[in-house]
Amino acid sequence: MPSGLDAREASAGPEPLSTHEVFNQPPPFEDVDLFALDAPLGETVKANGAGAAAAELAAFGRSWGTAAMFERGRLANRHAPELATFDARGFRRDTVEFHPAYHDLMTASMAASLHNATWTKEGARAPAPAEVVRAAKFYMAAQVETGHLCPITMTRAAVAALGAEPAVLGALMPKLSSTTYDPAFWPIGAKRSITLGMGMTEKQGGTDVRANTTAARRDGAAYRITGHKWFMSAPMCDAFLVLAQAGAGLTCFLMPRFAPDGSVNGLRFQRLKDKLGNRSNASAEVEFAEAYALRVGEEGRGVRTIIEMVQLTRLDCAIASAGLMRMALAQALHHARHRSVFQKRLSDHPLMRAVLADLALTAEGAVAVVMRLARAFDHAAADRGEAARMRLLTPAIKCWVCKGAPAFAYEAMECMGGNGYVEDSLMARLYREAPVNAIWEGSGNVMCLDVLRAMMKDADAAQALLRELTGEAHGLPGVEAAAARLAGLLRRPDAEAVSRLAVEHLALIAVAAALNGISPASAELFARTRLAGPRGASFGAQDVEAAGVELLLTRALPSF
Ligand SMILES: Cc1cc2nc3c(=O)[nH]c(=O)nc-3n(C[C@H](O)[C@H](O)[C@H](O)COP(=O)(O)OP(=O)(O)OC[C@H]3O[C@@H](n4cnc5c(N)ncnc54)[C@H](O)[C@@H]3O)c2cc1C
Repeated sequence: MPSGLDAREASAGPEPLSTHEVFNQPPPFEDVDLFALDAPLGETVKANGAGAAAAELAAFGRSWGTAAMFERGRLANRHAPELATFDARGFRRDTVEFHPAYHDLMTASMAASLHNATWTKEGARAPAPAEVVRAAKFYMAAQVETGHLCPITMTRAAVAALGAEPAVLGALMPKLSSTTYDPAFWPIGAKRSITLGMGMTEKQGGTDVRANTTAARRDGAAYRITGHKWFMSAPMCDAFLVLAQAGAGLTCFLMPRFAPDGSVNGLRFQRLKDKLGNRSNASAEVEFAEAYALRVGEEGRGVRTIIEMVQLTRLDCAIASAGLMRMALAQALHHARHRSVFQKRLSDHPLMRAVLADLALTAEGAVAVVMRLARAFDHAAADRGEAARMRLLTPAIKCWVCKGAPAFAYEAMECMGGNGYVEDSLMARLYREAPVNAIWEGSGNVMCLDVLRAMMKDADAAQALLRELTGEAHGLPGVEAAAARLAGLLRRPDAEAVSRLAVEHLALIAVAAALNGISPASAELFARTRLAGPRGASFGAQDVEAAGVELLLTRALPSF
């Protein structure tokens, strides 16, 4: 009898059930080291210049992999935030109440500087490898709970847009530099630290923000803003970057929750969205009633100003989706290694191994490519090639990683059978969480059009990047042909209509290139199955030899 069969991994607790014995149920995947168990993460961190941070990342991985952190993630989503529109006397409150677990997660993320590690205390870019180190932590945090990362990512990204208004940035940096989370609903001056949000999307348009009708009128040195936002997440942030129409056109503003005289500013929360996932995070419909705001950047240059922020949140969407994939994979692998069917571990059945290995290959590619992209952010200011990589690949990689996450989570869920489908397991939450990163911060088509626009605008930089990527992926099957196909698609008069195909080629080449710098054997498998060879529509529908499967599964999760 195979050794696996007599394992009795009961999770029924100390009290035995009177009617039957509970066995063949995997132990929970918790109290784990999220860094040490993830060989592809450790390798890509090293390859991207952050090897010296290994001990710091290991400590982060251990603390976020505890049962207590997973429980906080569960509680924060089980007990969704509630809107308190009025107080007992009928005065407007416009506050949102969160479960204590949400505050714990915010405390932990801010203590680890996920909201500010890439900035100096003055608001300049922190030296490399700050982006890579933070990205590795963000990726691990996303495996445990992603909802609270919304204000975290917006806070770190807002600094880039505030750079257009150095005086405002200078005034806020002491609060943004703090690593002590302060949830109090107080004016900024009275707080130890602050978080920042973003309001662009209105009822009539989210992608097309130029259709914004919210209006700003001058009021001395400041402005008064009247209108609405249809989605404004993390509404308990201390201030928001919002877009509104001023005299010279769409303009970016900083709108604090309190006016300078200490009164509550005119932000009226109408209701909170009842969302598919992302439940720990509140997303408000809000009206602005003559709300006080400061201009950020010139009038009429609102999109240009706020795009500095969006570039960073797009990177975080991709990192978080890679993290979701990683946790879905770890759960599936862990389950398959502890669950027996037909007298064999699930993980010993060839077809299940094919599915798991294919998931592992995608997850390994995702973490490799997002960390390589984070390195481009680290070096973009001083290196034109890295700047072009950042500009061209951020939308392509956001598109590929984020759009792949829902199908990935679904397949990983299926690996766990019925256990994966119920709320007690983390999988249901991961699955619900997966689609949002593809929708916000620019949906799939918008990302494709953005890649196209950037490639057309600077064709030389685009060609140089393609040469660089194909050089990095040199010798891998299908890469040259994919690059030629991509170039052909971009030259077509209907390039817009075929831009999904073009962007997919670009992203796959970038993934193969990133993998090749870490694990050539994984890169070869990726290129062979994604670029060169035929592959079916579902995970596992490919032809990979047993040695390749073994390699991928061992790298993905060592036995522990
Ligand atoms: C949970 C959640 C939280 C959010 N939080 C915030 C927030 O804090 N702040 C904020 O400002 N917004 C927020 N949003 C809004 C989000 O950014 C928008 O929903 C998103 O940008 C899409 O805009 P839209 O909903 O108006 O869709 P639309 O702009 O109507 O787009 C619909 C579809 O059309 C596609 N499309 C658009 N243009 C083209 C084109 N030219 N060619 C082909 N296809 C196209 C898009 O890709 C998309 O798939 C949030 C959304 C969600 C779901």
